[in-house]
Amino acid sequence: MAAIEKLSGPDLQQLDSEHHLHPFTDHKELHKKKSRIITRAEGVYIYDADGNKILDGMSGLWCVNAGYGRDELIEAAAAQMRELPYYNSFFQCTHPPSIKLAAMLTEVSQPQLNHVFFTGSGSEANDTIVRMVRRYWDLMGQPERHTIISRKNAYHGSTVAAASLGGMKPMHEQSGLPIPGIVHVEQPYWFGSDRSLSPDEFGLEAAKAVEDKILELGADKVAAFIGEPIQGAGGVIIPPDTYWPEVQRICDEYGVLLISDEVICGFGRTGEWFGADYYSTTPDFMPFAKGVTSGYLPLGGVFVSDRVTDVLIDKGGEFFHGYTYSGHPAACAVAMANLDIIKRERLVDRVKDDIGPYLQQGWAKLGDHPLVAETRMVGLVGALELVKSKDPIERFEEKQGVGTICRDFLVNNGLVMRAVGDTIVCAPPFTLSHAEADELLEKAWKCLDLTQQAVSNH
Ligand SMILES: *Cc1c(COP(=O)(O)O)cnc(C)c1O
Repeated sequence: MAAIEKLSGPDLQQLDSEHHLHPFTDHKELHKKKSRIITRAEGVYIYDADGNKILDGMSGLWCVNAGYGRDELIEAAAAQMRELPYYNSFFQCTHPPSIKLAAMLTEVSQPQLNHVFFTGSGSEANDTIVRMVRRYWDLMGQPERHTIISRKNAYHGSTVAAASLGGMKPMHEQSGLPIPGIVHVEQPYWFGSDRSLSPDEFGLEAAKAVEDKILELGADKVAAFIGEPIQGAGGVIIPPDTYWPEVQRICDEYGVLLISDEVICGFGRTGEWFGADYYSTTPDFMPFAKGVTSGYLPLGGVFVSDRVTDVLIDKGGEFFHGYTYSGHPAACAVAMANLDIIKRERLVDRVKDDIGPYLQQGWAKLGDHPLVAETRMVGLVGALELVKSKDPIERFEEKQGVGTICRDFLVNNGLVMRAVGDTIVCAPPFTLSHAEADELLEKAWKCLDLTQQAVSNH
């Protein structure tokens, strides 16, 4: 192949089909219609190889919270790479960006979270936690206490331990997962229930599933509970307000460590710095990734509470765990610059007091559409439930793929949102302007119309 670097458009699609394996993709399907190649981006818009301008209602993959085209982030990476492109934090070494970033992160997190362990991704962060949690209980003299409780339909990443923590059945089925010592209970998905309880009653019921599981296993076997404050990839499941306080009470009562997976909720998505702040929980661990660098470079990590570090540091000796790219200097430099932007432009407050409420108001009006049975949004993360009939609620058959039909209309009309079954999810950049929010809502309504026409023609 001559001069691969010069290829574009259809040639690139061909090359993609021939050589590139994509994440979470049915390649036979993909090869029939070819991949969409995104070539550049600016603000809240991405541009594809065919010249289409598309409003990115997903912030890439829930990560480009500060928007595209931020020179500051680019310069921070370039400057750091000129100074020190790589060094590790093994063998009693480290470098300024990882030290400073760890300190900056603990300034915006809750008071019990005073240490940070860096990874390259959210999956690695959760793998780290599985090992730290078990190490903690070993050091506490309770080696039987190894089971971690998670939820069905949770997403905690795609490595072996993270996918095991996740509650995605199709992922488990393909790989002989979960690994031993990880169990799953019901998720707090009120709309997905028979809706015979009020949301508040349902929230308590879903929390009770955690307590029942602890009692079933024996509290002396249960190491930790993990949950996303709002389940993202599972379809933006916003729990009823009663859920998290009750889960916190249960974890406290049985001494179970609480892990708040902040990979999506962290760094302002809910209008607070962390989802744990939004729901007033006090986690022992918070895995993070995505928004920490606004996606400009890969970086993840884990906030670890004093309860755990006191034991790990005092009694633990060497913890045999780490990644070549733990605390990569360029990624840490970008994260610091990203935190500067979030603070200077008051993006967390903007999500809470300005663009969040603005988009939420318009989003709720999409509930007037005959296809939409429920709308929900906290901060800048939301979902629409598409149904066949609203009263009484009747959902489409899965094989109709209505969510996917809608998603395709959306992207072809210049708006990226994602379909999780028949749930359409949205998580735009925090820099979204009011005019851009209006555009998002108009396009969403138009594509709901198109979806309804397409579905009723069948
Ligand atoms: C994306 C995600 C992960 C995994 O992060 P990667 O960087 O893709 O490994 C973990 N937890 C949650 C809640 C996520 O949304």
